[in-house]
Amino acid sequence: MKQIWSPWRLEYIEQNQKKKSKTKCFLCAAGSGSMVKNLVLLKGRHSFVMMNRYPYNSGHLMVLPYRHIGFVEKLTEQETSEMFLLVQKSVMILKKVFKPDGFNIGANIGGVAGAGVPSHVHFHVIPRWLGDTNFMSIVGDTKIINDSLNRIYNKLKKQLELME
Ligand SMILES: [Zn+2]
Repeated sequence: MKQIWSPWRLEYIEQNQKKKSKTKCFLCAAGSGSMVKNLVLLKGRHSFVMMNRYPYNSGHLMVLPYRHIGFVEKLTEQETSEMFLLVQKSVMILKKVFKPDGFNIGANIGGVAGAGVPSHVHFHVIPRWLGDTNFMSIVGDTKIINDSLNRIYNKLKKQLELME
């Protein structure tokens, strides 16, 4: 069968794909949705802090812009500076609540680097404890993880209110 040349379809398809990828992005949805449901701890003007539902460690937070953008170099100055302030705040809250021995702070840019959602840049703030490398394999039960996620959310939220 011969294809009919219909360039307007391309725009339609592209728009549809844009819409699709927009509605599919759970990070965008978290930024504009219910704070409690999405485990969002703190909302700034340009960026926000949320808990990772699939944490590497308990207290694993993410700092990210509201804007659906995949490149650090495309973040505005306001986004960049506010995001770093939120990283600092996250560290302060986690230190008070969990007293970790250290932190991993960073971003995976691009699928090849391990980014789960490469199109929406996000910085991980992960508390670390001495000998914690096997933590997640011990806490293997999803129900336990869900329960503790809500408990941790409330703890962190309380600490945040104390600091404000
Ligand atoms: Zn997004």
